[in-house]
Amino acid sequence: MKVCKFGGSSLANAAQLNKVIDIVLADPARRIVVVSAPGKRDKNDTKVTDLLIALAKTALDGKKTDVALAEVVARYAEMAAELKLGDEIVKLIEADLVSRLEQVSKLEPAEFMDLLKAAGEDNNAKLVAVAFEARGKKARYASPKDTGMVLEGKFGDATLDPVSYDKLAKAFSNFDGIVVYPGFFGYTKEGKVATFPRGGSDITGSILAAAVRADVYENFTDVDSVYPCDPRIVEDVKKGEGIPTMTYREMRELAYAGFGVFADEAVIPAVKARIPINIRNTNHPAEPGTMIQQTRRVTPGTVVGIASADGFCNIVVEKYLMNREIGFGRRLLQVLEEEGISYEHMPSGVDSQCVVVKEQFLPKDKEHKIISALKKELAPDFITVERDITMLMIVGEGMCYTPGMLAKACLALASAGISMSMVNQGSSEVSFMIAIRKQDRDGAVKALYKAFFG
Ligand code: ASP
Repeated sequence: MKVCKFGGSSLANAAQLNKVIDIVLADPARRIVVVSAPGKRDKNDTKVTDLLIALAKTALDGKKTDVALAEVVARYAEMAAELKLGDEIVKLIEADLVSRLEQVSKLEPAEFMDLLKAAGEDNNAKLVAVAFEARGKKARYASPKDTGMVLEGKFGDATLDPVSYDKLAKAFSNFDGIVVYPGFFGYTKEGKVATFPRGGSDITGSILAAAVRADVYENFTDVDSVYPCDPRIVEDVKKGEGIPTMTYREMRELAYAGFGVFADEAVIPAVKARIPINIRNTNHPAEPGTMIQQTRRVTPGTVVGIASADGFCNIVVEKYLMNREIGFGRRLLQVLEEEGISYEHMPSGVDSQCVVVKEQFLPKDKEHKIISALKKELAPDFITVERDITMLMIVGEGMCYTPGMLAKACLALASAGISMSMVNQGSSEVSFMIAIRKQDRDGAVKALYKAFFG
């Protein structure tokens, strides 16, 4: 059985929805269809989830909601009209939204916000189920409440309560036909609607794939496959081949350094259950897309992708004979821990220790406090914070046990006149990381792409 998830761009209008139905009907194994709320119809459009957030804010501010409500209803009505689904489904959606709005004075603002946000996927799932029926195929909407999608944690940033897996597996154990399931939300133990972080329909799909032990989790989006580097930096990458297969490890390393096609946290349930993940394009369903799985056949000496992530800074601490000072590293990290800062990497030299952290955790106004605390704790000879650092990540299982991979990268950067401020290779050999100045990022990615994929 396959679980397939369709994102907002795949469900933005009637034409897209028809493609989704064609895709599902083309393969009888596609039994569970997870849907997002309708996305943007064109570049300047607004996602239904954003319309709902605006609607919730209007209601929370005590203002009149009719215009904002009508805008949301119009999005569903447009699809229903184009697909000739009749008025009934639109009336149901409108009534659902009105009853959610009535809760404004009964719920905490964060709870009310989630109730409204969830309406985007919930009503879309109902509409998509009706659209399948209109195409003569039996399909039913399934509710996260009835099937046991139990969430915990903060509203708007909820996580799955692991009790859900058994409940979901049981709920799906004897169903027939196609089930359309809304992504992005579930229910707390107290029965309140709670949403995952934005983009959370991917999480729903991944959870369901794990719960029903699907053969594959198909994630339909709007790219043919994952490209080996960011096409906004290297346009030519679109002319070449996409990545046919990659391992979970490779995916994690690339997603960490900014590969935007998927959120690495979203796929954790599928990865833990060892369910292969297939990234595919709704607009080109014949393309096989990128398959992400536990292992793959690798060609020695090859790289799967080159990623780059901006927004890092580096705390550099130097002290003569640092290596003889027991507990130096622990005390350094303790200062960061006490300030609630998590660190990313920690390359070190004989008398120097660097700690790479995300700039968002060390804003300029916090810097003075941290530096003072570190000076007091470590009495360093020199300490500074370097900002505007970009991390390059060169990733591939094929690099393991292959000499010269790092040399090739260094040579490419040197030829492009780019200086490296740090190099870090983990013991897995599946990736290495090079820190450069942000202004050199595009040149660096281009040079590395040419060197490894030329
Ligand atoms: N509709 C939600 C969002 O826009 C969730 C999703 O599409 O995955 O964030």
